[in-house]
Amino acid sequence: MQSAPAIQKLLDELERLPGVGPKSAQRMAYFILNSDKGQALRLADAIRDVKDTVHFCSRCFNYAQAELCEICASDKRNRSIICVVSEPRDIPPIERTGAFDGIYHVLGGALSPMDGVGPEDLRIAELMARLGSEDVSEVVLATNPNIEGETTASYLARLIKPLDIKVTRPASGLPVGGDLEFADEVTLGRAIEGRQIL
Ligand code: ZN
Repeated sequence: MQSAPAIQKLLDELERLPGVGPKSAQRMAYFILNSDKGQALRLADAIRDVKDTVHFCSRCFNYAQAELCEICASDKRNRSIICVVSEPRDIPPIERTGAFDGIYHVLGGALSPMDGVGPEDLRIAELMARLGSEDVSEVVLATNPNIEGETTASYLARLIKPLDIKVTRPASGLPVGGDLEFADEVTLGRAIEGRQIL
């Protein structure tokens, strides 16, 4: 079916979103067309706003609007435990479990020799610099439980252990090959509480 060019443009953009096929793109586009202008423009403004104002936290590389993210800036967090994750999107599921009160470090990916992603492509040097300057007693390697995540965790464990810092990994029980973002809260919370020394 041929839509008016402006509608087609909206459909094309919506279809680029993860998990959105042609049918849901069409449902969203018609919802936007039917909604009042104020509501539709709030969505457009919210998108513009995050792109204009959100950047990486200068300490942990989570998303932030200030120099530091909300977690790094909080005085309620235990700064002696750093949880290492691949992406900023891995942080909210861990936060929702309530099982972790330390701070984070976002690598910006995972080691993948097949895709040409090496240690220099991740924020590993930045992590090592933090371990040298901050008073850290434990690093929790919460990379995803798939091949890339496991490779990254063993690589980091080898680097960090000689520093006399405890290195742990969330207990098994997480769906193997899965993503932290899709793990259920209870399972993820238990895995973090039952983390094991590597
Ligand atoms: Zn931060």
